[in-house]
Amino acid sequence: MHEIKTRFAPSPTGFLHLGGLRTALYNYLFAKQNSGEFILRIEDTDRARTVDGAEENIIETLKTFGLYFDKGPIRQSENLDRYRECTQELINKGAAYKDGDAVRFKMIKDGATVFEDIIRGEIKIENKLQEDFVILKSDGYPTYNLAHLVDDHDMAITHVIRGEEFISSMPKYAALHRAFDWEIPRYAHLPLLLDKNRAKLSKREGEMSVYDFLHKGYLKEAIINFVALLGWHPSKSDKELFSLEELTNEFRLEHVQKSGAIFDMTKLDWINREYIKRMPVETLFERVKEYGEKDQSFKIGGVEFNKERVLKILELEKPRLTTFSELPKIFFMFNVEPKYNPELLKWKKMTNAEINKSLEISNNIIESIDDANFTKEYLEKIFLEHAKEFKDRGELLWPFRAALSGKESSPGPFEISEILGKEESLRRVKKAIELLRG
Ligand code: GLU
Repeated sequence: MHEIKTRFAPSPTGFLHLGGLRTALYNYLFAKQNSGEFILRIEDTDRARTVDGAEENIIETLKTFGLYFDKGPIRQSENLDRYRECTQELINKGAAYKDGDAVRFKMIKDGATVFEDIIRGEIKIENKLQEDFVILKSDGYPTYNLAHLVDDHDMAITHVIRGEEFISSMPKYAALHRAFDWEIPRYAHLPLLLDKNRAKLSKREGEMSVYDFLHKGYLKEAIINFVALLGWHPSKSDKELFSLEELTNEFRLEHVQKSGAIFDMTKLDWINREYIKRMPVETLFERVKEYGEKDQSFKIGGVEFNKERVLKILELEKPRLTTFSELPKIFFMFNVEPKYNPELLKWKKMTNAEINKSLEISNNIIESIDDANFTKEYLEKIFLEHAKEFKDRGELLWPFRAALSGKESSPGPFEISEILGKEESLRRVKKAIELLRG
């Protein structure tokens, strides 16, 4: 058995999407687990559709996710002589002919094409709908149909792993291989990505690039994990969280499903939350810092990366944080005095006089605690003692929490108060009292 070689062969027509990342990942995993070679080939022969910066984005994205390629990027635009030579060979053999300035391959239109797909098993396609197709365009550039096939042969690619949209063209590829008298590689055609209603992915979802997901504050570990599960899951367990290393051991190309893979954003959210929860808070801090440096919204409210404070906020928010993009708002809450409607201070049927009294008590409690004792544990202890004097402890704790956060829902008052510190907590409670007086 010769060495296994796979390739990821994107066209640089835009930023890399999740579907492209999945193709790259599966090619990478299959090569790595077989001690084979993973090659990056840039299919840039469609000059009109080539976008500036796309190739750089593709390469950077692969590196971000640790999908290092062993060879490449190899650009088809630098290999034009070879495609022209192959075209000439087909013309000489009588298998292709000139059509104006373009060259077409002569298709066989009877019989059927049969091939073995690693994921789908035997596939049979009737040839009668085939037409002679262009292999070299009038601009002298080859079409995908010719170029990818020549390269796969020249690079000795053993396994072609790509999207299912190419299945219908298999008669063309089988015929070209036959005309060149080349060995056919093995094929694995990956399932389409579908939305929750099993419809083709909407433009909005389908056009989101991997970069967009990173920018939204998803962790790269979560994105690659999510992408791995778009069409594959381990056959004998319900494990859902995988590192790249675990994927390299456990992924099986032949277990990829045939039917469309459902692209469910709520699943990505879940995976991301799980990674955040499991991440040591120091690591989380470093990652948030890195993310924040690229995102202007982190500057709102003069957020400074005071490490001690941010660590406390992260510790507090970790259990419910879905993505990093939620953080500016949270930091804002701690850094900027909140604005809210005084109605928010009311717990159940409390009157204004009762709320006022409750806030005065909170004020006095805070004043009585010195800076050294200003911890959530101590605050909780003292507040709960005083709460016994109320019919319902919410009458003390709700107005206090609302005064600190200005929000209908937030973490508990003691946690917020500790992070704000004595001075800022007092300021916010006093503000609430003023606000209530109108
Ligand atoms: N350039 C093709 C694409 O981006 C690659 C298909 C293949 O892997 O052969 O869809």
